[in-house]
Amino acid sequence: MTQESKAPWTCSVCGAPAARWSTDPLPVEFREGTYAATGFTYEHCDSCGESLISARDMDSVQRVAVELARADLGRMTSDEIHSLRHELGLRQSDLEVQLGVGVGTVGRWERGAVLQTRMADNFMRVLWAHPELVTHSDLVARESRGPYRKRD
Ligand SMILES: [Zn+2]
Repeated sequence: MTQESKAPWTCSVCGAPAARWSTDPLPVEFREGTYAATGFTYEHCDSCGESLISARDMDSVQRVAVELARADLGRMTSDEIHSLRHELGLRQSDLEVQLGVGVGTVGRWERGAVLQTRMADNFMRVLWAHPELVTHSDLVARESRGPYRKRD
């Protein structure tokens, strides 16, 4: 680490002796706006402009930005989504059927990896306030043909 700390060093992308550590905020874009994650140290090249961030750190950057966006936009947190689901007695896949979102979506929300849409957020709040509105899975179409009631 002591050698690498002697900035600038050779950039592994462009080869210029212009790489250094940076702690500048990392902007993450959402449809609703851009939120900058802070608290990360990463390699940045002043010559080619590349920032080298590990995949693991990128996951954290994304989660920090999602948290900032949720706080700013007034959306439910990961914990709230998790609590809602448990209070309603639903598995992740059940809630996905209720909301009509793709497989794995609720897990990504609960891990804070993805920002839920405003519509999904509103729908979850309605279900939280009115749990009697939770539909039995067999009444919700899994294909995109609308809800049909089974014939008895
Ligand atoms: Zn470079």
